[in-house]
Amino acid sequence: MESGKELFDVTIIGGGPVGLYGLFYARLRGMKAKIVDALPELGGQLVTLYPEKNIFDVGGIPRIIGRDLAKQLVEQALSLNPTVCLGEKVISFVRHEEAGQSDFELITENGTSHLTKSILLTAGIGAFNPKKLEGRGIENFEGKGVHYFVLEKKEFKGKDVLIIGGGDSAVDWVLNLLDTAANITLIHRRDGFGAHEESVREMMGSRADIRTSYELKMIRGDSRVEEAVIYNNKTLEETTLSVSEIILNLGFHADLGPIKRWGLEIDKGGIVVNARMETNITGIYAAGDVASHPGKLKLIATGFGEAATAINFAKKFVDPASKVYPRHSSDMKSLPTSTAD
Ligand SMILES: Cc1cc2nc3c(=O)[nH]c(=O)nc-3n(C[C@H](O)[C@H](O)[C@H](O)COP(=O)(O)OP(=O)(O)OC[C@H]3O[C@@H](n4cnc5c(N)ncnc54)[C@H](O)[C@@H]3O)c2cc1C
Repeated sequence: MESGKELFDVTIIGGGPVGLYGLFYARLRGMKAKIVDALPELGGQLVTLYPEKNIFDVGGIPRIIGRDLAKQLVEQALSLNPTVCLGEKVISFVRHEEAGQSDFELITENGTSHLTKSILLTAGIGAFNPKKLEGRGIENFEGKGVHYFVLEKKEFKGKDVLIIGGGDSAVDWVLNLLDTAANITLIHRRDGFGAHEESVREMMGSRADIRTSYELKMIRGDSRVEEAVIYNNKTLEETTLSVSEIILNLGFHADLGPIKRWGLEIDKGGIVVNARMETNITGIYAAGDVASHPGKLKLIATGFGEAATAINFAKKFVDPASKVYPRHSSDMKSLPTSTAD
């Protein structure tokens, strides 16, 4: 995690496809650029909502699944060595007006801060919060064996793991932890899975114990998770599993949250921008799903164009001597190699 008092030309809030493309473009234009995302992983909706779904409408790519498009966008963005801060949800900003300069300080939920001359908001439909199960003792065990994200596989090495869910994330984590965990049980409250068929087939043939029509009844343990009581929602038969780690993969809620109270003009849930992707606050730009303008279409392809427009105008804003319109990317002779350029 990176934060601190280093001043960036542009800080991009939101590491979905549009923010990632904006990050690449900002570095291409020689800007000192940083991206901040609330999630532990880059990719936005591509990785959280539809990692296995096909996408057919991105120019130059006949067909690609969400996860692979995210991977290519990350590769492109990181090729120009930007600064990346994950697991940090931006909640507010203050503006420092000193000696004719006007910089922003972004504040995150974790208490870290980021100094920047301009902001590109690519927060999409908002920060994703994992859906939780009410009661059942879960709250008492968050951080003590109950997980909503897998940050490091090694945490599960040699452990007995229970995974709850039937979507892509749940199935992917069963497959991913097969080489790490001692035992894996997956429970899903329905008969069928929402995950990609190929992955479900692979999981069903694996050593994992898969139980459909099963739900969590309660978690037991002293200072950490020790047991999970599960039940069959058709027969009500209960089973006690000896597990030390429980991963809940039940999907996400998305919410723009505090950004709605920044004084930005909002229309139909989106942040109003003009043709330069400028918001009503000088120095703050928006692009992608979060931006609202006449004729808005929430597509990856349109978001890429909006991000390029926003960054070109942000470049002119932070460096008035520069051109807005760079013309050919191949003419950018001194492609930057590090944020210190
Ligand atoms: C099921 C489904 C299928 C789709 N299929 C297609 C398709 O085939 N083709 C197509 O073009 N489009 C498709 N879309 C739409 C497409 O996914 C979106 O247009 C695209 O993801 C928008 O990208 P974005 O970068 O603007 O936002 P997002 O992908 O939503 O990313 C926003 C990021 O911002 C982060 N964030 C939000 N708030 C904060 C904060 N306060 N602090 C830090 N980080 C924050 C979030 O964690 C997230 O990572 C589909 C959407 C869905 C749901």
